[in-house]
Amino acid sequence: ATQEKAWAAGAPSTGKPAVTPESVINLDHGDPTMFEEFWRGTGAAAEIVIPGWQTMSYFSDVGNVCWFLEPGLDHEVRRLHRLVGNAAVDGYHVLVGTGSTQLFMAALYALSPPAAAPMSVVSTAPYYSSYPAVTDFLQSGLFRWAGDASSFTGDTYIELVCSPNNPDGTIREAVLSSASGVAVHDLAYYWPQYTAITKRADHDIMLFTVSKSTGHAGTRIGWALVKDRDVARKMTKFIELNTIGVSKDSQLRAATVLRAVSDAYELPAAGEEHRRLFDYGRRKMAERWSMLREAAAASGIFSLPDETSGYCNFTKDMASTNPAFAWLRCDREDVEDCASFLRGHKILTRSGSQFGADPRYVRVSMLDRDDAYDIFVKRLASLK
Ligand code: PMP
Repeated sequence: ATQEKAWAAGAPSTGKPAVTPESVINLDHGDPTMFEEFWRGTGAAAEIVIPGWQTMSYFSDVGNVCWFLEPGLDHEVRRLHRLVGNAAVDGYHVLVGTGSTQLFMAALYALSPPAAAPMSVVSTAPYYSSYPAVTDFLQSGLFRWAGDASSFTGDTYIELVCSPNNPDGTIREAVLSSASGVAVHDLAYYWPQYTAITKRADHDIMLFTVSKSTGHAGTRIGWALVKDRDVARKMTKFIELNTIGVSKDSQLRAATVLRAVSDAYELPAAGEEHRRLFDYGRRKMAERWSMLREAAAASGIFSLPDETSGYCNFTKDMASTNPAFAWLRCDREDVEDCASFLRGHKILTRSGSQFGADPRYVRVSMLDRDDAYDIFVKRLASLK
């Protein structure tokens, strides 16, 4: 009843319910609520007010290929990439999508010319579980899921390259190289809190999202950096046909959030330590990974990918990789399905089988709130 009153007064939902030591802990989705703590501490820097008369038009910038892109978001996207040095922006079109998920679909559409046979869509296993699901759910005649890129033999294809990879955190390059194949680089996790920024990526199509960079998954804003004008135009067409553009309210909020991130590094007055997203994120992720490694060692029945590190051009120091997901293997001989074993202990994860891999593996989100994460590592440590 209190909750209903709050909603009636216009209060927002808080997402997943609070947990207790007895709760089922749901780490199946990569819900990035870990970042709430950081954004609670930034005060008004990321706040936005939209008067009733604003953002009413369908259009944002009719002269741009992406005519529904808010110029302020375009500006902040380019500014942040220049600051972090993780992707080239000069000579690229910025396109906005309802999450990078919509841009992924737009890329499939743009890169699959109408032809007799549908285009094959591939990615090296273990691959992000949404790739096959999103590719095939409308059973398009333009493209279809063709599985693991490393065993693919044709020469016309779209290769999805996720780096750092969801689910296992590895740094990846395209494995196929036919002249008539194309790659889409999903760089959702190529940010300093997850990995060392070792080079400025300059692929033809790169996808990013606020869901993983700042943690604002609920804002549903992603962006694509696209070199080729014709591909950019077709991707824009897809979004026009699919949703006639992308919420301007969300774009303005995303722009404000990205501006707050850059300001904390570029404006000395605002640059107190606790306002620097990537410093906060890296510290937090490193803490969580060391807790997890300790818990796995205490339990003795789990293994994790080895820790790797590299020189980060952004922070100018050596940084270890702290993936947003743990790719956890249960080594107990009698456990063939790690997800159901963990479910039996009230820990929900996603089975390796959904990523084209062995069900002895599971993917565990590392981005949940502290209370849930703490219960998770304690429970994991106690499993024998
Ligand atoms: N790509 C990867 C690799 C992801 O992990 C996710 C989110 N789980 C997405 C894309 C989609 O993100 P968005 O919320 O922007 O649709």
